[in-house]
Amino acid sequence: MNILADTSDTGKSTASQEAGPVLAIPTARFEQASLPVGTKVIHELKGSGLDVKYDPAQINALDARLLSNIYVDFTEGEQVDGLRELGRKAFGDTASSSLYAAVLDSIDHSGDAPAVIARVVELFGHVRGEAPAPCSRYGWCVETGAHVEHTGDSVEPLFLEEDRRELLAAGLTHWSKGVRVGFLEQDLTPADARIKLAEVRAHLDAVEQLIDYAEGAQ
Ligand SMILES: [Zn+2]
Repeated sequence: MNILADTSDTGKSTASQEAGPVLAIPTARFEQASLPVGTKVIHELKGSGLDVKYDPAQINALDARLLSNIYVDFTEGEQVDGLRELGRKAFGDTASSSLYAAVLDSIDHSGDAPAVIARVVELFGHVRGEAPAPCSRYGWCVETGAHVEHTGDSVEPLFLEEDRRELLAAGLTHWSKGVRVGFLEQDLTPADARIKLAEVRAHLDAVEQLIDYAEGAQ
């Protein structure tokens, strides 16, 4: 299932291809802002890119792009470009158009296109009754379907009272900066987790020594 259409479409501008000399294709970044009444969109060239600020109270995310002629002259990167075909198909279909505008609005609002697109794909997968696929990246990840944040089951110290387990509970995540080991209420790199684990082991050895003393004293 791929509602986001042709991912092989890199979204390169067709207009500049037709226009003879191919210039570096600039990128456009859309940002939501509160603008004076009557000013729906502001364009600002920055380096090779275009910053587009628009006021969601005055114009929706889709119309802001259409107003900027964004499908002709600019590309926003592969992720959002993947939405272009969906957008093209949506024109003339009010429901699809609204849906597309809402997706773009979420992307502009959160600034996290991959996460929004992953969520949309997941939602449509559920609508179509497809069984969510297991994580394709990590065997320990319990997330299913399209996702960008990986989370594993946590290992709980069940010998402790429930309200005291958090400190020694451990689990794996990969949210943004690589795989982290959650342990001692911190998100540690694997290397740091090994150091902490060695410290905990040394502490347990010290506890065991106390027990040895206690038994020797009897
Ligand atoms: Zn995963």
